[in-house]
Amino acid sequence: MLTLVGVLGHPVGHSRSPAIHNAAFTAVGLDWRYVKLPVEPELFAETVRALPDSGYRGANATIPHKEAALAVADEASDAARAIGAANTLTFEDGRIHADNTDAAGLLAALPEDPRGMAALVLGAGGAGRAAAWALREAGAEVSLWNRTPERAAALAGELGVAHVVAPVAADLVVNATSVGLDSGDGIEELPLAWVDPPRVAVELVYGAHETPFQAWGDAGGAAVVDGLEVLVRQGALAFERWTGAEAPLDLMRRAARASSST
Ligand code: NAP
Repeated sequence: MLTLVGVLGHPVGHSRSPAIHNAAFTAVGLDWRYVKLPVEPELFAETVRALPDSGYRGANATIPHKEAALAVADEASDAARAIGAANTLTFEDGRIHADNTDAAGLLAALPEDPRGMAALVLGAGGAGRAAAWALREAGAEVSLWNRTPERAAALAGELGVAHVVAPVAADLVVNATSVGLDSGDGIEELPLAWVDPPRVAVELVYGAHETPFQAWGDAGGAAVVDGLEVLVRQGALAFERWTGAEAPLDLMRRAARASSST
């Protein structure tokens, strides 16, 4: 019988995950299919509970369902619990297991071990929370900046990291804001003009074009990790969790980049 997995979102039409996972299933010889599951927030929990009996092995959750994905689970990884959100659900033995592969995916995408590095995370939304937690866990000295400073202060307090009211120089900078999502966005929305360039610049936003943050990192000579690489890495970890097979990373990267939707 065909095994299914999918991505629960609202909206979800933009997702590149089906292209990434379906290419990987074919490559490793699995008769599995990854589908888009558009679901409204009110119907999220009952939809998830129906999936195992409909042939689903698991699902990813994206905006706005990551907190609800944790809430619907019977058990959760340390990362999902600490971050307060899950992006990967696995159905096994009649139970729903929640994980957060955004955090480990970000770490896997880094070109060097962040232990001991000064890391600046821009953004205190869901992505900023996962990034700050992951980097702190990996031994980086994390500072958090957000456009709305109260949100950064609250999150920094919760995670036990530093809060800065203006970006500071760091070895590693992560853009976890949504600046760059809109093609009209400019780097001036992130107050980085007077900040020394980092060694590593990680962009979480992905789309068809280089973002202003990537251009800033490039111009400063940083090693730039783009949002698609992080997306592929979190997807690879979910793939391995569901299938037990090693993820064909290069092929997943090619599928992500070839996928025309943004
Ligand atoms: P979110 O919870 O809505 O948070 C948005 C963040 O962006 C907030 O910190 C917000 O600051 C900030 N922001 C929005 N507009 C801004 C502006 N004009 N100037 C400065 N800051 C601004 O969203 P999220 O879930 O954290 O996602 C953030 C981005 O990461 C999205 O583009 C998402 O697609 C991407 N993402 C990528 C991956 C991946 O695998 N590559 C994974 C997760 C997320 P305020 O608090 O001041 O509003």
